[in-house]
Parts: sequence; structure tokens; C-alpha cells
Amino acid sequence: MAEFKSVSAPRSVTEIASYHAHIYYDPVATREVAEKLRKWIGERFVVRLGSWHDAKVGPHDRAMFQVSFAKEVFSSLVPWLMLNHSGLSILIHPNTTNPRQDHLADPLWIGEPLLVHGEVLPERAEAEEALEPNTTPHLPA
Ligand code: ZN
Repeated sequence: MAEFKSVSAPRSVTEIASYHAHIYYDPVATREVAEKLRKWIGERFVVRLGSWHDAKVGPHDRAMFQVSFAKEVFSSLVPWLMLNHSGLSILIHPNTTNPRQDHLADPLWIGEPLLVHGEVLPERAEAEEALEPNTTPHLPA
């Protein structure tokens, strides 16, 4: 449930060290769709494509793979995902020092929002910098 809180000053975006996109799929029904989307991303963006998780992992309630990306990539990748998510649900969250808040209170969704078990995440952690890219983009976004 959304929690409304009154704050005395706005948070600075300098809190954000990097972003994740979690691309959810059904291992039977939509893995092929996810495979195509993953290939398209790798051909166009400097990101770290994470492992396939056909089984639920961490706070995620459905099979997914993670895309780790730098702040500078957000403005090109996220609009592209809006147009190309192919019906898949995508969670995009900032990485700050509060992973629970990043996943539950502060993310954005492309496609249908899903349940996220943010309660398993800590409220205090080192903010994750973007992971080393493993793509070699050669096509325009
Ligand atoms: Zn994440």
C-alpha cells in the first residue's frame, strides 16, 4: 500500500547510484518473448544483462532477468522499453542505500504491475553502482 509521508526537504537524485530493470516473464508462455527483448536490448544499449531466473528469486514473484544500467542510460533505455516491452511487465527501480524503499515505494512499472516481496530486502545497504556492461551494441535505439 502506498504510504504518504510529509518530508521537510526533497531527496536529491544524487542518492541514485544506478538502476535495475527487472523483466518478468512466464517460463512456459512468454520466455521466447523475453529472449527476443533481451537480444534487442543487447544490440542497442550498454548495460549488464543478468542471469535468467526461471524460478522466483529474492523479492521477485515471477521468473525474470535483471538489466543493470548506469544513470546516463536511463533516458534512452526506459522510453525504448515503454515502446518495446511486448506486453511483459518491467520493474525499474533506483539503487540507493534503501533497497526496500527502492523496490516498494519508489520504482516505476512498464506494463502490468506485479507483486514484489520488498519485505525481504534491507532498509540499509551500500548503494549498488552499475554493474560492468556485457553488451556490444551496434544498432540504433
Ligand atoms: Zn533490482
